[in-house]
Amino acid sequence: VEDDGYNEYLYKILVVGDIGTGKTSIIKRFVHNIFSMHYKSTIGVDFALKVLNWDPRTEVRLQLWDIAGQERFGSMTRVYYKEAVGAMITFDVTRASTFEAVSKWKADIDSKVTIGAEEKPIPVVLLANKCDLGKEGFIKTANEMDKYCKDNGFIGWFETSAKENLNIEKAARFLVEHILKSD
Ligand code: GDP
Ligand code: MG
Repeated sequence: VEDDGYNEYLYKILVVGDIGTGKTSIIKRFVHNIFSMHYKSTIGVDFALKVLNWDPRTEVRLQLWDIAGQERFGSMTRVYYKEAVGAMITFDVTRASTFEAVSKWKADIDSKVTIGAEEKPIPVVLLANKCDLGKEGFIKTANEMDKYCKDNGFIGWFETSAKENLNIEKAARFLVEHILKSD
């Protein structure tokens, strides 16, 4: 916080979820507004910066952490999660197994990173990605998804498409609102 009341925030945001659910695609769309069918999953950690001009007095810098190649272990190390203040968990609406993995990712985050002395869980938003492909393989209704989020401690969920650029910015802003509120 500077004297003129201009605020700059830097937030570390985790993007996790099973392999092939669109983590890299969502980040590339959000940060560079591009989409490709061929993102290599090189082993390691990648991160990208997205600057949001939140309002005339507030700039929010999101450092988005993408994992690659380690998803198959179904969990990450504490070091990776360190100092994250929010997360997105992705699943692929055409593959039920990726939805089943969501609760495992959520538990992994909750057990390894918390905020403040009260050790509150970090806000997590759920992304039902590839919604452009239809929902033949995914039979949850909106009501069921709302209930799932409530029961599992998600702040909310969005149907997203990195391909069609659907709801990604909206989901990110929703997450940031929650982070700012509790800051
Ligand atoms: P990651 O392993 O979670 O990082 O997933 P990727 O971002 O590499 O995406 C895996 C595959 O799904 C790639 O071929 C992407 O082009 C494709 N993909 C990602 N998001 C979408 C989407 O919203 N719609 C469609 N149709 N394909 C997508
Ligand atoms: Mg990837």
